[in-house]
Amino acid sequence: MSNFRTLDDIGDVAGKVVLVRVDLNLPMNGGSVTDNTRVRASEPTILELADAGAKVLLLAHFGRPKGARNSTMSLSMVVDAVQDVLGREVMFVPEVAGDIVAQAIGIMRNGDVSILENTRFWPGEEKNDPEFARAIAANADFYVNDAFSAAHRAHATTEGLTKYLPSFAGRSMQKELEALDKALGNPEKPVAAVVGGAKVSSKLDVLRHLVGQVDHLIIGGGMANTFLAARGVDVGKSLCEHDLTGTAEAIMEAADAAGCTVHLPYDVVVSREFAANPASLRTCNVHEVAADEMILDVGPMAVEALGDVLKTCRTLVWNGPMGAFETEPFDAATVALARTAAALSKEGSLVSVAGGGDTVAALNHAGVAQDFTYISTAGGAFLEWMEGKELPGVAALSL
Ligand code: ADP
Ligand code: MG
Repeated sequence: MSNFRTLDDIGDVAGKVVLVRVDLNLPMNGGSVTDNTRVRASEPTILELADAGAKVLLLAHFGRPKGARNSTMSLSMVVDAVQDVLGREVMFVPEVAGDIVAQAIGIMRNGDVSILENTRFWPGEEKNDPEFARAIAANADFYVNDAFSAAHRAHATTEGLTKYLPSFAGRSMQKELEALDKALGNPEKPVAAVVGGAKVSSKLDVLRHLVGQVDHLIIGGGMANTFLAARGVDVGKSLCEHDLTGTAEAIMEAADAAGCTVHLPYDVVVSREFAANPASLRTCNVHEVAADEMILDVGPMAVEALGDVLKTCRTLVWNGPMGAFETEPFDAATVALARTAAALSKEGSLVSVAGGGDTVAALNHAGVAQDFTYISTAGGAFLEWMEGKELPGVAALSL
């Protein structure tokens, strides 16, 4: 990973105006915020700057207003949630550039925090229009990006602003980049990757990239069925992308050539109906799946063997559950393997980094999220990073 400037390098910010790009795309229900995790992620950055005397202007997008004002997507709706987390008053400014923002800055005292309006109300945001970025920058002295989750997009407030202001990674961005670097950039070997989830097609680029990076590629979830089918296994009625068996084969060949061992389940949990604790539930060898059965989880013998693989590794990167974990008992493999990874991380023998919407939910369900070395909540940006892509918002911060 290339180097980037952090808040340690920003110098004296007392009385200075600092634009801080954060993630305020908060889940809402009936006008109120249901989960403030993303605000809490940026709390250290906001408070560090405010306590150093900066005038902090928060920049964020919310929803998909497609370049026009839309009162149902105003960031004024998240002001209370941000105030709750920060424990201080926050002003809302219904613009992102121009005189209204300048006037707001004029009445802010050093250490005050304001939220500017939804950046996506202006078409220049998603077009990364230099004039739009320049207009936002005109009111400020510094730019801090604390939104890794938006760094896979080259937008005016994630990338464009770096061209007009001295730019720095916020604490949450810094933590994320350091964790990801430990997992795939400069990992301690041997490295294992667990890739699961529903479909091969959604993670083709992840799989293609990982085979050249890791020593062990553990494939679970629905996507394992496509790989099993490629090896000639009859997967019955399982979720399986039969048109991608050739691609799966090519990935396994690339893994072979790169010295990466691919692990597929050899026992599986199957059922004729997809329901909680179904009457037709059974565990069998992958070669014994009946024509009317579905594979819904990795079997206990395979899970134990995979745990042994993790014990030989120093680094683990995980995306995607091993089974249909939302429905009992098809959470068993995910929970068991997550607990092994968590225990190894806790005793210090494994660096474990996980990400992905359903993966985070599954690790929380297993009750082990806090024992992983790092859990990314970045979704799309995390997946693009797992694909080995350079994220424009990160590249723009690089020295
Ligand atoms: P993430 O959001 O972490 O990237 P995905 O969205 O790729 O993960 O995949 C998660 C989904 O995969 C879950 O809803 C889970 O139920 C489903 N899944 C996992 N294994 C299977 C399986 N064997 N059959 C059907 N669906 C599965
Ligand atoms: Mg998902």
